Amino acid sequence: MTHLEHTPASPNPKRPLAPDTSRLDPRSARAWTEPMAVRALGGGRYAVASGGDYEVDLPAGTCTCPDSGYRGERCKHLRRVAVEITRGDLAPPGRLPDACAACGREAFLPEALALCDDCRYEAGDAVRDRETGDLVVVAAVHDTPADEWLVAGTDRTVADYETNDGYPTDDPVVEVVYPFSAGRKPLADLKRYAFPHSRLADVNAQFVD
Ligand SMILES: [Zn+2]
Ligand SMILES: [Zn+2]
Repeated sequence: MTHLEHTPASPNPKRPLAPDTSRLDPRSARAWTEPMAVRALGGGRYAVASGGDYEVDLPAGTCTCPDSGYRGERCKHLRRVAVEITRGDLAPPGRLPDACAACGREAFLPEALALCDDCRYEAGDAVRDRETGDLVVVAAVHDTPADEWLVAGTDRTVADYETNDGYPTDDPVVEVVYPFSAGRKPLADLKRYAFPHSRLADVNAQFVD
């Protein structure tokens, strides 16, 4: 497997997109043909470098350039951001380019959950605790990182526990239950335990360490 095609020559090269612009109005044509470096900042905001440095807020439909809002027109920076998102070259609002915390693959990941779609567990998944080997069932996956999740009845976060040393402190928290050692209680009645996501292994995955 190669990641070469995902590795740009420089982090944010200024480049034109160069389609057939003959049928576009001038402002749209500039959004396509002018070299611009666009970078997602999170929260629906984007840094656009083209001549000057501007910031686009896509959900708000605003840009910091003098042209923004002129006669109700969308400036070329706003248009460029929309074009690049549509082409899949730029992270849409709510996502950022990041390496999946579990598999390391680069993708546009949810801002609050640095895991790709393949690696994110869902409620009901059977997973194995890498530390104890226990088979557990996912009750809930949260956006909260392990170092911000206070364990009920304590003043410690999930990341503070020694058994979680070595797992990323910003791992999203996964709550699991132990359905195989609790008799015949319904899942919803079982006590939940919070883990950093990467401490839990897919039951089908091989243990390599
Ligand atoms: Zn602008
Ligand atoms: Zn992944």
